[in-house]
Amino acid sequence: MPGPRAHVLHEANYRQLLESRPNVAVLPWGATEAHGWHMPHGTDVIEATAIAEGAVERAVAEGARVILLPTIPFGNNAQQQDQVATIHLSTTTALAVLRDVTASLVRQGIDRLVILNGHGGNAFAPLVRDVMLETGATIVVVNFWQLAPETTQAIFDNPGDHAGDLETSLVLFLQGDLVEMKQAGDGRRVPFAIDKIAQPGVWTPRPWSQSHPDTGCGDPRQANAEKGKALFEATCGAVAGMLVELSAASKGQSPYL
Ligand SMILES: [Zn+2]
Repeated sequence: MPGPRAHVLHEANYRQLLESRPNVAVLPWGATEAHGWHMPHGTDVIEATAIAEGAVERAVAEGARVILLPTIPFGNNAQQQDQVATIHLSTTTALAVLRDVTASLVRQGIDRLVILNGHGGNAFAPLVRDVMLETGATIVVVNFWQLAPETTQAIFDNPGDHAGDLETSLVLFLQGDLVEMKQAGDGRRVPFAIDKIAQPGVWTPRPWSQSHPDTGCGDPRQANAEKGKALFEATCGAVAGMLVELSAASKGQSPYL
């Protein structure tokens, strides 16, 4: 049996943390929401946790001083509140969580934080701007599904943006026993009836249940674990490279000021 991993906070003991003090923390941040008829409510938590873990493991192997924090399981689901057991974390709550996590880490000499975001409805930019000003930390946001555009383009004809081919393939690879492919719908999107709202530069959130009758966006029926593995490897590699550079950075080296 391998012992506790020093780079995973929920496994590491205090002696390990003192011996190899981290200077970068990675905070996976998911959501708990419906993912079609075929995927678990915990999909975004599974994805964010696994990619963060894979990336931290690779970065540590290259000498980076990184610690993986436990995953925040809830995200912004304001437009899905008509769906059973879908938990919404409001923006003010998310700000409070981010502020307290960051301030704690800064007091202990960890002034670089990477949020590994697993949910499209989580918008961190304004929160990060405020918390960086308040704490002096450097905070970086990673949206995992945007990390490997070439791989994504090469392996998915239509990745979809929620419970579609991309996400379903990824979870088939990570935890295939939780995916009921026979139940998968077509992930059809119903266009807005007020169609001028759909033009470039104009935005309003989708009323999810009306826009997505099976709660998915994008057809998952071509998904497979092999595509998920390729995406996982490319994504972890991209995040790990960034973690290595961030951990090695010295104060004053832009944007780590
Ligand atoms: Zn998702």
